[in-house]
Amino acid sequence: MPIINRIAGFQDEMTEWRHHLHANPELSYQEYATAKFVAEKLRAWGIEVTEGVGGTGVVGILRGNVDGERAIGLRADMDALAILERNVFDHRSRSDGVMHACGHDGHTTMLLGAARYLAETRNFAGRVAFIFQPAEEMGGADGGAARMIREGLFDRFQCDEIYGLHNWPGMDVGTFAVKAGPMMASGDSFEIEVLSKGMHAAQPHKGADVILTAGHLIVALQQISARNTDPLDSIVVSATQIHGGDAYNVLPNKVIIRGTVRAFSPQARAAAEPAIRRIVDGITSSTGASSTVSYAQQYPTLVNSQAAAKSAEAAALSIFNRVETNPPQTMIVEDFAFMLEGRPGCYGWIGNGPDDNGRILHSAWFDFNDEALPFGASYFAAVVEQQLQ
Ligand SMILES: [Zn+2]
Ligand SMILES: [Zn+2]
Repeated sequence: MPIINRIAGFQDEMTEWRHHLHANPELSYQEYATAKFVAEKLRAWGIEVTEGVGGTGVVGILRGNVDGERAIGLRADMDALAILERNVFDHRSRSDGVMHACGHDGHTTMLLGAARYLAETRNFAGRVAFIFQPAEEMGGADGGAARMIREGLFDRFQCDEIYGLHNWPGMDVGTFAVKAGPMMASGDSFEIEVLSKGMHAAQPHKGADVILTAGHLIVALQQISARNTDPLDSIVVSATQIHGGDAYNVLPNKVIIRGTVRAFSPQARAAAEPAIRRIVDGITSSTGASSTVSYAQQYPTLVNSQAAAKSAEAAALSIFNRVETNPPQTMIVEDFAFMLEGRPGCYGWIGNGPDDNGRILHSAWFDFNDEALPFGASYFAAVVEQQLQ
């Protein structure tokens, strides 16, 4: 069966909502107008709404035609990014420097579409919690998922299972990908300070050169993936920032290196921090510099439960033209991983069409593909109707 007819019937309206959201993007925890837009729609359809969950989050509760013990959570993210949009179409951002470049406008719209359909039909037993999450892009413990959970999301609103999705450029529209087990990586951050007294550039022997030390360090950090991790396991250590020096003729007294560590297995993740400290200690002692290291765990690995992945696959098979059940994992992180630590559930990827001409996530030329809207809304609805029979 393809997309749900009744949802296809209001595809044009969904496209209008999506364009409205795209034109009015808001940054993490500033999704005031977006949350209001969502809450007003949900209320108009007779859904019980709670606002201000985890900052600007919105939760809608809908009961089915039949009483039931179980409740399913469906989640969409609402925030935009600090990017200056380069598109020139009519629905381009009206807010300079803020842009829906990750397609959360589409995610919010698809969940609204599912909410409208389910509110009109209520062909299920039990309850659905529509979770509109703020600040996915902020991520980590400060991000919207962790904050909603800290503010009692799962205590205040029953969710026995939770489902979410992300658009995936490069996958055809009408395609869905889902995988049981780890699908997206854990993400941590580190900051290394390399310190010395500094000296004249022409007199390097008068102290420890923090620039040279930093150079050795950046190279040596790659031994974590090449030599400290099981070759059959996966880890990425990327130094992403280096700050130091102001003059041609001064060897500075400080260099700061920052970066990210991505992994799948708990073993690889746990081994990374001590390895970074060991490498920094060894190299700075060899050059005579000193150092500090700070390391912070940011995102857990996103792990889909076996049962929920099966349910997601069944729902997807009833809606999409093609369902990939063993897509390659990605080292990209996702805030939904926190929700999956709190409840069993499943995250999936929905095809957004070709990824050419800058149509990639976080690009100034990105735009969510409106053709995907009825697929995502139908998928959410199918999960509920199949799992809450
Ligand atoms: Zn993003
Ligand atoms: Zn995103």
